[in-house]
This record gives sequence, C-alpha cells and structure tokens, in this order.
Amino acid sequence: MTTESALDTARSQLRRAVDLLQLSENDWQTLSTPRRILEVAVPLRRDNGNVEMYKGFRVQYSTTRGPSKGGVRFHPDIDMNETVALAMLMTWKCALTNLPYGGAKGGIAVDHHSLSLAENERLTRRYTSEILPIIGPERDIPAPDVGTDERNMAWMMDTYSVNAGFSVPGVVTGKPIVLGGSLGRTSATGDGVAISTVEALRVRGINPEGATVAIQGFGKVGYWAAIALENLGLKVIAISDVNGGVTGFESVSKLWAHFLEHKNLNAPGTQALTQEELLHLKVDVLIPAALADSITEKSAPGIKAKIVVEGANAPTTPGGDAVMSENGILVVPDILANSGGVIVSYFEWVQDKQNYFWTADEVKQNLNDIMMKSFHEVEEMATSNKVSWREAAHMIGVGRVAEAHRLRGLYP
Ligand code: GLU
Repeated sequence: MTTESALDTARSQLRRAVDLLQLSENDWQTLSTPRRILEVAVPLRRDNGNVEMYKGFRVQYSTTRGPSKGGVRFHPDIDMNETVALAMLMTWKCALTNLPYGGAKGGIAVDHHSLSLAENERLTRRYTSEILPIIGPERDIPAPDVGTDERNMAWMMDTYSVNAGFSVPGVVTGKPIVLGGSLGRTSATGDGVAISTVEALRVRGINPEGATVAIQGFGKVGYWAAIALENLGLKVIAISDVNGGVTGFESVSKLWAHFLEHKNLNAPGTQALTQEELLHLKVDVLIPAALADSITEKSAPGIKAKIVVEGANAPTTPGGDAVMSENGILVVPDILANSGGVIVSYFEWVQDKQNYFWTADEVKQNLNDIMMKSFHEVEEMATSNKVSWREAAHMIGVGRVAEAHRLRGLYP
C-alpha cells in the first residue's frame, strides 16, 4: 500500500458524503482541510549511547465540535498523509457517536518492538514534550492506538503534568486505572466490535448463538473482540496475527495462554492458515482487526462471509468496498464498528474532569447505549437513502460537523 492511498481513500469517502448530503463547495473546502499539522523530530538516546532521530506527528483535523481527540500510533510506516487520513476518520467517528470532540491522530515512525522499555519511555516522553504546546484536556486528548498502550499513556500524562506543575489526568485517555483511567477502557474497542457484530447478525436474520467468526488481528482490538464474542455464544473459528493465522483451537482464552507463553499462535492441535486463507473462510462474520488496506479489490472477491465488521481503522480500500457491495456483503464500517474505544475514552475524560469514577456496569451500560443508538442511526440512514453503511455513517458524521461549522460561522 502507498500511504497516499489512505488519504485518497479518506478524501474520496468525504467527497461522496458531501455529494450525498448536497453540501456546498464552501463546505467541501472547510471539511477537506486539516486544521493543524505538527511534525516534530524526536531524538532518542539508545541504551548503547547512540542518538537516533525519529519523525513524530500530531494532526488536529478538526476542533469544530470540541477538543480534538485521537490515538498515538508507533509504527515504522506511519507518515504525515496517513496521520491526516486517520485524524479525518476520528473526526467523523466522534461526530457519528455524538461525542463533543473534533478529531486528531499522532504517531512516531518507529518499530516499537525494536525499543527496550527504557527507550520506549524516553521516546514517548520526548515526543510528548515536543507536542506539548498543542495538547491538553481542553485542546487535544491523545490515547492509545497501534503500537502504544496504557504504559505510554502513563508516561505522557506524567510528562505533561510535570511541565504543568500539577497532576493533569485528563490530558490523555487509556491510562492505567490508578492514574485516573476508566474501568472497561482496555476492552472497549473489542466490546464495541462485538456489539456491532451481534446487531449486524440481527439485521441479516442470523442467530448469533453458534454464528461463526474469523478475526484478522490478535492485538488490543482482535483479542478483546474474540473474548467478548465467545462470551456471547458465537464461535470464533480462526484468528491471525502478523505472522499468519490458525484454526482448530479449543477456545480463545486457551489460544491466548499459548500465545503469551510461546509468542506464536501454533498451539497444539491447531492448523496454520495464511492471511488470505483466513479472509476467505466460509464464516458468517469476518472481522479485520489489524492494519489498513487488508481488504482490496484483489482479496475481496474471495470473501465468503456474509458480514464484515471493521475492527481496524481503514481496513478496506475503495476497490475492496466495490467488490463487497457487488457481492451483497454487509460491511459495518470502522467509524461505527470500532468506536467503542473512543466512546469509553470520552467516559474516562468525563470521570477525570469530575474526579468521580464509575462502576464497570455503568461504563458497560453507557457504552452499549451509545453504540446501539449510532448503529440504528446508520441502519436507518442506509435504508432510507439506499446507500451503503459506510456512506450512511459518513453522511451522519460529516453532516454533524458541517452543521456545527455553519452554526459557528466563519471568523472574522
Ligand atoms: N485509537 C482509537 C481509535 O482509533 C481510540 C482513540 C481515542 O480513544 O481517542 O478510535
């Protein structure tokens, strides 16, 4: 994949929503332009004393509906174009779920596996210090994404707080619970993917009990989605990670236990699958929960699943979308399917602002309420306008941002 393609895809989805909503050329201009882009050089002293420079980014795509919000990604391929595309998606995702946020994304072009824990901490702290002037609980609130987790958020929160002179838990979400994190945040994206899956099965008239699922990705999204789906009575029959997939495991938790101990998925009794074999399995639901561009015009024709639920951000190219729509596959788009993460991030931010923390049940109930509301709004929009669910989700998200723009007016 070229990284221009992620941005091209995002822009073409926006153009389509603008056209469907019959918005003006002025609206297109404001909606298609990222508001603030920061590129920083992040020096890292390696454990052996060598100094290396890494590129870091923070894109605040929109602040129209509130402070910008979005994850921080550590991945060798990340660049400015991809970060803009992902920040744009965050904007529509927050508007679709009606969170009072704009959209952002950030990251460092680094392979985090190549870093020791101490190096990861130094890199995270220096990156935070470089983007410090533009983040804050009222400005822009980072969170975990690919290659980062609650440890990185703890270091970011600490770096920001040390500079402020007091503790500022609300500057990032996805923090450890003891630092002002929220119960249910770690599993939130996967839980939301499971809610979307069960609802999509209802739409297609398939009983979730015993419905079969293949999941590409066994990280923060794929693992928790697999656990939630198994608890709901679905059958997760195949899972992959970057090195390939497996089928024939007894249960997700047994496979996870093997994975933790051996760092691979080849548990006794399992059969190996290539990524392509996993995508093409005859299952009810396919969940791409890894990186972008896994469903393309080349891989889509072999997909036999009736439903695709996008756990990852931007896993489908426009070519892949066209093939799936031709084949009658129901695609629950990323900005709906994986919105559970940012929804619980919002709950975390609210709890930090109020210094009042919710029970796990409150988090779960409120997550379910918002996901169900967004899901039904998208279903209704798709049906009444005879458009795909992706188009419907973008129409709702983009429409809300456009309306907020109009009501705020143009300064000066
Ligand atoms: N990185 C997640 C996403 O892509 C969560 C972002 C957040 O919680 O701010 O939605």
